[in-house]
Amino acid sequence: MDHALRPNAKDDAERRRIEAALSEAGFCLPGSVNDERSRCGKANCRCKADPAVLHGPYHHWTRKIDGKTVGRYLTDEQLERYAGWFTNAQRIRQLLTELETLSLRIAEQAEGWEPQAPPTGRRPRTDAKRSATSTKRQQAKR
Ligand SMILES: [Zn+2]
Repeated sequence: MDHALRPNAKDDAERRRIEAALSEAGFCLPGSVNDERSRCGKANCRCKADPAVLHGPYHHWTRKIDGKTVGRYLTDEQLERYAGWFTNAQRIRQLLTELETLSLRIAEQAEGWEPQAPPTGRRPRTDAKRSATSTKRQQAKR
């Protein structure tokens, strides 16, 4: 028996548009880069003055490995070199969210399900408080 679903022409065209964009995505790096400014340990430094002139910005690249946040600092040159790769990864996540949203709607209509909220495509945040929470969540899953 054939249980295959045959989406209408409009939905199928939308799927092909997303797939075409995905196929052109290129190299991509996980995680995100945040510019950070900081104070050092020297007593008479400009970062302790009033008004303070903080050090940086430092380009802090963070990502999750097995639920743990790991970081790496990038030089200006490295950030410039890889900026497009981070943008590509964001684009892929956005396209995946679009494809999931489309697929969800098609399945809900075909099955007569009550619509549920579409995926947001949001990733867990990387600041310390949130990563502690998501680490707990990860452990709870095991
Ligand atoms: Zn300083």
